[in-house]
Amino acid sequence: KPIIELIGLGKTFENNNNKVTALKGIDLKIYEGEIFGIIGLSGAGKSTLVRCINYLEKPTEGTVVFNGIDLSKVSKHELLKIRQSMGMIFQQFNLLMQRTVLQNVCFPLEIAGVSKKEAKKRAIELLEIVGLSDKANSYPAKLSGGQKQRVAIARALATKPKVLLCDEATSALDPTTTRSILKLLNEINQKLGITIIVITHEMSVIEEICHRVAIIDHSNIAEIGDVDEVFMKP
Ligand code: ADP
Ligand code: ADP
Repeated sequence: KPIIELIGLGKTFENNNNKVTALKGIDLKIYEGEIFGIIGLSGAGKSTLVRCINYLEKPTEGTVVFNGIDLSKVSKHELLKIRQSMGMIFQQFNLLMQRTVLQNVCFPLEIAGVSKKEAKKRAIELLEIVGLSDKANSYPAKLSGGQKQRVAIARALATKPKVLLCDEATSALDPTTTRSILKLLNEINQKLGITIIVITHEMSVIEEICHRVAIIDHSNIAEIGDVDEVFMKP
């Protein structure tokens, strides 16, 4: 069953009489439990697409349905709750540098109103899942890129999301570290059953972990299908 359905999705940015169409007529279903890749050149519209999925950007056309709910129909308060079921990670990790690893992971839980004690307990579990238990009291500045992304993954999983949105999550990492992060994402998909959306400009990332892929080109879906079909044509 689809966890995310985009129907005729479009986004045009308008500033100073200048119009930029980032997305146009996007129809897409992403199913529960899959690892779905979105690939395209810089400027193709990938980031805008994920930001529309979690409604950080409001689409100018069409509909986003998440878990059966039309996001244009929900109140601000409901939207904030729904966003807790969509974790997100980024190229530059976006960690809070003044806080320890443990405090970074606790942060979304505290915002969600979870008690400090409960938050800490859950954060410790999450750091175990991402293999960083021994860094709980370190500050992000002391960590390698791969370790920072593990913290970001733990933080994104804190509120038990149904979907994890990864926006160029391995683009700042070397090939070996990239592989280890992709392996972790695969485990998270398998063991926790979380649907994963991977945005990237690198074909190797798609080939390594995605089940299906959409190629975005000039605001449109140019091609969509199983990774084998799309990339390994005879
Ligand atoms: P990608 O992630 O594939 O690199 P983006 O979604 O970031 O592409 O951008 C798609 C297009 O939309 C680009 O032309 C970009 O300049 C434009 N764009 C993105 N965000 C904004 C914004 N906030 N204001 C104006 N234009 C934007
Ligand atoms: P920015 O616009 O600077 O990229 P935002 O204001 O969107 O960041 O988000 C603030 C912080 O919350 C960031 O550090 C980001 O990592 C985190 N964040 C935003 N959205 C989500 C999400 N859906 N899941 C997990 N963390 C998120």
